[in-house]
Amino acid sequence: MAVIIDGKALAARLRQQIKEEVARLKEQGVHPCLAVILVGDDPASCFYVNNKEKDCAECGIKSIKYALPATTSEAELLGLIAKLNADPSVHGILVQLPLPKGLSAARVITAISPDKDVDAFHPENVGRVMQGKYTFAPCTPAGVMKLLEAYSIPVEGRECVVVGRSNIVGKPQAMLLLHANGTVTMCHSKTVNLAEITRRADILVCAVGKVNFITADMVKPGAVVIDVGMNVNDEGKLTGDVDFAAVEKIASYITPAPGGVGPMTRAMLLDNTLKAAKLAAKI
Ligand code: NDP
Repeated sequence: MAVIIDGKALAARLRQQIKEEVARLKEQGVHPCLAVILVGDDPASCFYVNNKEKDCAECGIKSIKYALPATTSEAELLGLIAKLNADPSVHGILVQLPLPKGLSAARVITAISPDKDVDAFHPENVGRVMQGKYTFAPCTPAGVMKLLEAYSIPVEGRECVVVGRSNIVGKPQAMLLLHANGTVTMCHSKTVNLAEITRRADILVCAVGKVNFITADMVKPGAVVIDVGMNVNDEGKLTGDVDFAAVEKIASYITPAPGGVGPMTRAMLLDNTLKAAKLAAKI
């Protein structure tokens, strides 16, 4: 039976460390602050933004929420971002995605100062991640790397397979594994013989968004299985991409979903905000 990677516990430890570091920064006169912009009232987005506010409060990070109506024009949104870019008391800026129709996420993200882009979605930060010279890495892949590190799971020289190639998860995940000297294969919906490839993986990361997508026959015995997926199954329960009950019997390590990658994603946003505050204060 696999060791179950406890992302919830690790995220709690990280939040404690961040809280202590925030307190030390405050003693030096630096008060970390995250601005979160929510446009419209998509229930999932509201839920995520509320969690972000809660996490910030727990760690002593100031959060300012801008809840804008769905009718907000792009010019208005860009105006707010310009104001926050210029405000030295704001260290991190996050625009909750997806944006309502008519607003270009690409233009909006590109308007955020790269030094305040705590989601690491700005093209400059994407490029830095690609080069391996970055301050901010996207929260989910960064959280996965922290989980591997915390469980002393080596990446160097190992076969890593990432299923999913989104800009926010799959692609940066592959880059981070590559920088850790893994031998990385990326798979997507056009991959032929997917199971053959996933069965080669020593470390298998799945970010597809389909319930029970990774079945036991797709996993090499002893592999490390990281389930990024966050889906709602037929019973209305939150679940990942991996058939957990079957795969935990053959994997060496496995993340549960929920309770694996999700809490780490949240913790890494706090970590990036802390980094942004230090960057601004030249600490
Ligand atoms: P996207 O929908 O942007 O990307 C999904 C990827 O899966 C695409 O690259 C797609 O390939 C690939 N895919 C779809 N079907 C197949 C298939 N049959 N075989 C192989 N690959 C396939 O999703 P995200 O990356 O944004 O998210 C993925 C999952 O992770 C979702 O469940 C999401 O909710 C979850 N998530 C969880 C987070 C967390 O903190 N735990 C954070 C972010 C996301 P193609 O490119 O060819 O279309």
